[in-house]
Amino acid sequence: MENDIFQNELTFLKGVGENRANILKKELGIVTWGDLLYYFPYRYIDKSKYYSIAEINSDDIYVQVKGIVQGKELIGGGKNKRLIVYFADRTGRIELVFFKGLQWITNKLITGKEYVIFGKPSAFNGGYNFIHPEIEERAKYENEVSSVKYMPLYNTTEKMKNSYLNTKALAKITYSLLSEVANKIPETLPQYIIKQNNLLSLNRSLIEIHYPSSPENLSKAKLRLKFEELFFLQLGHFVEKLRRNEKSEGFVFSKIGKHFNSFYKNNLPFELTNAQKRVIKEIRNDMRTTHQMNRLLQGDVGSGKTLVALMSMLIAVDNGFQAALLAPTEILSQQHYNSICKFLKGMNLNVALLLGSVKGKARKNILSNLEDGSIDIIIGTHALLEDSVVFNKLGLAVIDEQHRFGVEQRSKMWGKNNDIPPHILVMTATPIPRTLAMTAYGDLEYSVIDELPPGRKPIQTIHLYDRDILKMYAFMHKQIQEGRQIYVVYPLINESEKLDIKDLMDGYESLAREFPLPKYQISIVHGQLKNEDKEFEMQRFVKGQTQIMVATTVIEVGVDVSNATVMIVENSERFGLSQLHQLRGRVGRGAEQSYCILRTKDNLSKEAAHRIDIMCSTNDGFVLAEEDLKMRGPGSISGTAQSGVLDLKIADIVKDEPIVRRCKEFAQAVLKNDPFLQHPDNELLLKYINKHHPITDFSKIS
Ligand code: ADP
Ligand code: MG
Repeated sequence: MENDIFQNELTFLKGVGENRANILKKELGIVTWGDLLYYFPYRYIDKSKYYSIAEINSDDIYVQVKGIVQGKELIGGGKNKRLIVYFADRTGRIELVFFKGLQWITNKLITGKEYVIFGKPSAFNGGYNFIHPEIEERAKYENEVSSVKYMPLYNTTEKMKNSYLNTKALAKITYSLLSEVANKIPETLPQYIIKQNNLLSLNRSLIEIHYPSSPENLSKAKLRLKFEELFFLQLGHFVEKLRRNEKSEGFVFSKIGKHFNSFYKNNLPFELTNAQKRVIKEIRNDMRTTHQMNRLLQGDVGSGKTLVALMSMLIAVDNGFQAALLAPTEILSQQHYNSICKFLKGMNLNVALLLGSVKGKARKNILSNLEDGSIDIIIGTHALLEDSVVFNKLGLAVIDEQHRFGVEQRSKMWGKNNDIPPHILVMTATPIPRTLAMTAYGDLEYSVIDELPPGRKPIQTIHLYDRDILKMYAFMHKQIQEGRQIYVVYPLINESEKLDIKDLMDGYESLAREFPLPKYQISIVHGQLKNEDKEFEMQRFVKGQTQIMVATTVIEVGVDVSNATVMIVENSERFGLSQLHQLRGRVGRGAEQSYCILRTKDNLSKEAAHRIDIMCSTNDGFVLAEEDLKMRGPGSISGTAQSGVLDLKIADIVKDEPIVRRCKEFAQAVLKNDPFLQHPDNELLLKYINKHHPITDFSKIS
């Protein structure tokens, strides 16, 4: 783009040398002027108002206080060593507490001198104190950037603070950036959109978001920036969708044929749930138009997605095509393969399994049978994505547990045919609230199975503390005596973390003492085992040869052992809600009553206790997902952050739902009037689309 000031390097700014530029890049990923302009403050301090110490009555509000340092005291030792600074004004005295940089702060603060502190009070001993507040000499502070009424606060890292790049330093840099670019920031939205939605200009908004002139203008600036973010996100999705409908043809599956019907009549062991019926209909309707299907299917764990996948694949086969089912792990592929073979028993269909570990002649055979079309349904892992895997005529690709796959994998499957792409069904058990799904996967159609098969007993969830270990053992003995199997899961935050593995090994050893050989057998599975060993241990448990499975979260995804009725999650305070729910979904698959035991350390933070309480009070994955979103924000919904599906800087899909909706309607209306954005009024939109959604020829993706 011509002369785009957003692309300027930071070192062109006053106050930023090589050193600071490097730190900003490393710590925050900020490289250009544009990056810094879009690095928004998380809060503002009203500089026009000083709080008096007596006035402080909430730990919610950031305040600034003027006062005198009356004394300093170093207390505690070792890890508990801290510096207490006594800070007073005419109305009272308050403690400032520091755990780090003690020497530096001691030297910097002079007893008897006047300072301004700002920060968030912490409730303490029935009163308040400040932990690591920002501190300025009063005289200096009141002189500086005196025209600034609302002081921005930016998130900074420990490393940045150590290099004197604290929030105040950053604020100075953005201030000088804004004086460089003010009135030169180009508009990104067409004038008519700005007018009709009553938005501020981008130029004005970026100034106001860093240095607001009033609370009203700040909220207008936020609205404009959220609007822009959500509008372009959805416009992009709709353009992709339109292009698909215009350009890329899809196979037409006109009939429901003999395999589908014979399966439905003879093999289906139970009645489909209404939700399953509805979703199969939706898929069927997609696949008989001339457009390629791209559909997201959501359903809680155990809601019966596999069956929906299978019946959709049968439609493909009935219309003379092959179908593929892609799963994220070998264990899961194997299980899909087993259960699908069981479902299809007695039917004349060729189903194959391709794993990375299948080598040599066996592999060659599968590949050639795929290529000549004699395989109808193939199930497998990432191995299916390899270029050596060539289909005769792939009609439908089902991708299970989407969050383990990225968008690239989806397009890999698209490219498997030379001419027309296969229909794509993406399945996920991560319950994403509908609004989020519609926005995150807005380029996909959306189906949901919102009903569990009948006859399931709701899983009972129980919270036990570490000190309750005897209670837990007693419960385990009872369950094993009744012939049930038990999972014991340990968190693994990072596969390479030795500590985590040590937790697991310690736990395993205590269990082995409590449940000794030869009467009891215990499987153990973790990420540091070789795949074959993992597989072997898994299989022992699946076959009922072991009573207890001790594992890290490798078992999180999709395994199905209906005789396992107890899921014990150790250190469960370290898991998020979604993950706990996924783990819990491993049990409750058979007719027996199932239990989930969440073990935590004896002292829980307020937040962790809240999470555990919610888990104990509901089995509804969607309720939990909403709750998770509220507590953690959308960026952390598992998978969406990982695969970069949602990378929102300011908008919040949950809280800003009305803006999401407004932007959606607006984007749709724009495209309805001008599908190819050819009208001069839409020039800016076209520019955006060309830059962020260049046309790809999907038949060429390899
Ligand atoms: P998920 O959605 O987690 O992939 P599965 O497809 O593995 O769920 O289904 C869970 C279990 O429920 C399987 O054992 C499956 O055979 C069974 N199941 C699926 N649909 C029904 C139904 N309509 N009625 C009874 N059981 C069903
Ligand atoms: Mg599944």
